[in-house]
This record gives sequence, structure tokens and C-alpha cells, in this order.
Amino acid sequence: MPSNKQLRQVVVVGAGVAGTMAAQTLRAEGYDGELTLVGAERYAAYHRPALSKKLLTGEVYRAGIDMAPQNEFEVRALRGVSAVGLDMASRTVQLREGADERTMPFDGLVIASGADVRPWPGGSVPDGVMPLRTVDDCLAIRSKLGRRTRVVVVGGGFIGTEVAASLRSLGLTVTLVSREDALLQSALGEEMGSCWTDLHRRHGVDVHLGVAVESLVGDGHVKAVRLSDGLKLKADLVLFGLGVEPATGWLRGSGIPVDKGVVCDATGAVEGVPGVVAAGDVARWWHPLYQEHLRIEHWDQASRQGVTVARTLLAGPGNAEEYDAVPYFWSDQYDVKLQLVGVPTGHDNVEVVEGSVREGEFVAAYGKNGRTIAVLSTIPGRVNDYRGVIADAAAFPPRLNAKADSTTST
Ligand SMILES: Cc1cc2nc3c(=O)[nH]c(=O)nc-3n(C[C@H](O)[C@H](O)[C@H](O)COP(=O)(O)OP(=O)(O)OC[C@H]3O[C@@H](n4cnc5c(N)ncnc54)[C@H](O)[C@@H]3O)c2cc1C
Repeated sequence: MPSNKQLRQVVVVGAGVAGTMAAQTLRAEGYDGELTLVGAERYAAYHRPALSKKLLTGEVYRAGIDMAPQNEFEVRALRGVSAVGLDMASRTVQLREGADERTMPFDGLVIASGADVRPWPGGSVPDGVMPLRTVDDCLAIRSKLGRRTRVVVVGGGFIGTEVAASLRSLGLTVTLVSREDALLQSALGEEMGSCWTDLHRRHGVDVHLGVAVESLVGDGHVKAVRLSDGLKLKADLVLFGLGVEPATGWLRGSGIPVDKGVVCDATGAVEGVPGVVAAGDVARWWHPLYQEHLRIEHWDQASRQGVTVARTLLAGPGNAEEYDAVPYFWSDQYDVKLQLVGVPTGHDNVEVVEGSVREGEFVAAYGKNGRTIAVLSTIPGRVNDYRGVIADAAAFPPRLNAKADSTTST
């Protein structure tokens, strides 16, 4: 039973995985007051990672990506409704549905509005230039694909590389353009990122690195992409993945602290604002292991944070438990499953500790100041064995079952 008996009206803004897990957990753990789940999209929660993978290739149908509710739970689900403002003095959320506006009172608020794609720089674009964030985006892209469609993908991060892999596996002509010197460089570093550059080239993707897009060519519909090195790439479709920004526009002027995401403590409580929590891509939580605020755009993290913030609301001020799980991420490209535990940002060392890059099956560890901060693997499931190594900040390079070393510097 919840110990916070004052909680009678909870509003969850954002019906993605974080918001849905928060709502489900509130009910599953005994909350019996009013519960409203507000979602800007017209759909119930679905598996967003499938958009750049099996939904894009057509291996699964639209209905196949819906998130199965753990249990049927009682919730007022408002779909196609956006939160457009928040007033902390009256503790109300302002909602908009088409031309209609109304306010909704709350005593507990879950901010789970996720992230918005960074738009194409410079404003308007010709037809056939598209981002990928929502199921509608994915279906719109699919409707443009023909057997001979020439696709230029701009952005060498996870979305760009996954989209390139999926479309290449359909046999399309795919060109991938990135400003960096290796694909996935900002996520994995140049050394490991170059493994994915090689992977894409082996599969026939025309990869252009270290170049920017100068302009889009096309009158009405895109016809080509001009690069900063002077090259002009013919294109029937341009898909871009230039990163995302936390969806915090509706919080403007509310007093909620926003600094590259909603600033939260390690329980998901918004710092300095009682009864308000935030989870998922929109939130920047204090991480006890890394001793800094982190905003992590990963499915597993969003799901677990959703569960945690429900518990934080139910526990009430001062009683909530800190969340210190090691972050986990995966990406599927061709027949390779990349899995990563930890946060490699700022690493000063990287070493292959199992297998071989050449064989395609390996485990690589990232180190910082002599400690292991992240582990990357292409051997399915193997990263799980390294979670403890990272949680213990074990000496770098890590040796499994060598916990005794964890406090000894190298
Ligand atoms: C194409 C793609 C592939 C991915 N692949 C992977 C992967 O392989 N592995 C992995 O770990 N992660 C992956 N991710 C990341 C993962 O999907 C996200 O980290 C996760 O979806 C975040 O969940 P969330 O609930 O915080 O936010 P979201 O999923 O963004 O959900 C937030 C919801 O809130 C709604 N919303 C926003 N503002 C408002 C408002 N003002 N009012 C009401 N509703 C609002 C949005 O419309 C959205 O439906 C991928 C993401 C994308 C886009």
C-alpha cells in the first residue's frame, strides 16, 4: 500500500514507455485515486525502437509494435491531447485537443514527454526530406519507398545507421553522410565507431565521412544533396537523424528546473518541486554511480525510470529509494546486435577484452582514470556479465570475477 495517502489525483504527461510504465506501476502498487495519462500521439504506447528496424523493413505490421499492457489497469487515457502549460501555483496542467483547451488539477505529476527531433537546420525543406521519431513518421517513410528509391541518410548516429541498415537490407541504394570521422563516433568513440563504418561499407552502403550537407537540391521534391566537399548525391528520399531535444516547451515559465532536460534527484523527484517527478528522455537525473546529472535516451532507462518515479510518488517526500542501475542500450544493424552497458562518455582508454573485432564477435571495455565505465559487445547477452564490473567501478581493463581488484588502482 502507498505510504503517501495524500495522493488522490495523478496526471502523467507523455504516453510513451516512461509514462505508461509510471501509470501501470502506480496502479500495480496500490494507488487507487484518479489517474490520467495524457498523450500527444493518437496511439497507445508502442515499441519506438522497432521504427528504425522491423517496422521500417516491414518484418512486423503496425499492430505488432504495440506495447502489451502488463495488466489491464484503470486509467483515463487522453490520446491526441497535448499539455501546453503548467501552473504550479494552482497545481494544474493546461491541455489542448484541437481547438479546445482545458485545465486539469493534480496533486502528483509525472513529466514523461520524451524528446522531439532536431529539425532540419535552416527551416523549410522540399518534399521527401523526413525525420524518424514517431510511428506516423515511419509509415510516411515506408509509403515513399519503391524498389529503386535512392536514399540519402544524413546523420551517423544510432537512428541514421539503423535506418541505413534496414533500407540497405531491403536492397535499396543507400548513401550515409556524417560530419564525424566514423559512424557512431559520438556514442562509441572513433575506434569502436569505425567497426560500424566497416560493417556498413561491407553491406554496400556508400558512406561519406567528415562532410556536412551544404544544401538540398530540388524544386518541390528533393532531387539531390550537395555536400561541403562539392559532391552532389542524387536522392529520391533524404532521411535525417540529427539528434533530439528534451520535450520541455510546455514547461516554459512554470518554475520547473530545466537544464538540458528536467533536473531531478536520484529518485526522479524534480529538484525543489514537491509532488512532481520526471522520467525517460525528457529527464536528467542525478546518477549516484557517475556522480553527475545524466539524460539518457535509452528504452531500458526510460522504462525503469517510469517504474521508479511511480514508487517515488507513492513513497512520499523523504522516503523514496535512489535509482543507481547501470544504463543499458542495444542497437540492431544487419545481423549484428550491439549492446552497451554503462556510459562511455569521456573515456580515455578502450580495449578489446574478449574475442576479435576482425571476427565480428568481441567485447570492448571503456576506461576513465583507470576505472571501467562502460562495456560494449556484439556477443548477444555478454554485456550482462559486466554490469557488476561497472557498478563497482572496477579497475581497467576489467577481468570478470575480479571484484577484489575493484578498489586497487592500476
Ligand atoms: C527510431 C528509434 C529507434 C530507437 N531504437 C532504440 C534502441 O534500439 N534501443 C534503445 O535503447 N533505445 C532506442 N530508441 C530510444 C527509445 O525509444 C527512447 O529512449 C524511449 O522511447 C524514450 O521513452 P520516453 O517515454 O521517455 O519518450 P517517448 O518515447 O518520446 O514518449 C514520449 C511521449 O510523450 C508525448 N508528448 C510529448 N510532449 C507532450 C505533451 N506536451 N503533451 C502530451 N504528450 C506529449 C510524445 O508524443 C510521445 O508519445 C530509439 C528511438 C527511436 C526514435
